[in-house]
Amino acid sequence: MYLKRLELKGFKSFPNKTDIIFKEGVTAIVGPNGSGKSNVSDAVRWVLGEQSIKSLRGDKLEDVIFAGSDNQKPMNFCEVALTIDNSDEKLNIDYSEVTIKRRAYRNGESQFYLNNKNCRLKDIKEILLDTGIGKDGYSIIEQGKVDEILSNNPVNRRKVFDEACGISKYRYKKTESERNLRNTKENLDRINDIYVEIE
Ligand code: ATP
Repeated sequence: MYLKRLELKGFKSFPNKTDIIFKEGVTAIVGPNGSGKSNVSDAVRWVLGEQSIKSLRGDKLEDVIFAGSDNQKPMNFCEVALTIDNSDEKLNIDYSEVTIKRRAYRNGESQFYLNNKNCRLKDIKEILLDTGIGKDGYSIIEQGKVDEILSNNPVNRRKVFDEACGISKYRYKKTESERNLRNTKENLDRINDIYVEIE
């Protein structure tokens, strides 16, 4: 499993469609200050479901959309598509190539796609669990992240280790099941109320 391609359109400093192909052996992106290197890693985190605009170095939602330049008008939407080679079937999905896409508009509308089909952020999270490449995974260590991991509280630090050794999936499923149980209990209580009323 490896990151094969990243396509950007209207994302931060990339107004025009830009395809970045990560051929085998690519280990670094270099360029002058301000040329957009960090915007590329922001795009990867954003498409994987990052919801915190602050951690993408912005103040408001629309800061990820190209804001215009001297010779180009601002864009109304942005789109990032990330393609993962899954020939080793590490991702639990029946495709040898998986493309995750996210599109957002200035009015706040946002949509995720999995291999070009509409999906929920939850679907993407579930596919990436325990792979280390989710938005909270350890495959992207941005500036300051090492300090954060070292100085963070033990609960947050444990999440990094849980992800690395494949436990987060079960923790996630446990939380989901507990929520479903709570909802079911509430529904049963309501049914009981109605039952008592009509008796
Ligand atoms: P450094 O080496 O200094 O860390 P970098 O190559 O990582 O720089 P980035 O931080 O990725 O550069 O890019 C910064 C540039 O992106 C700035 O010129 C900024 O104006 C531009 N930029 C950021 N958000 C937007 C946006 N929404 N619209 C247009 N340009 C943007």
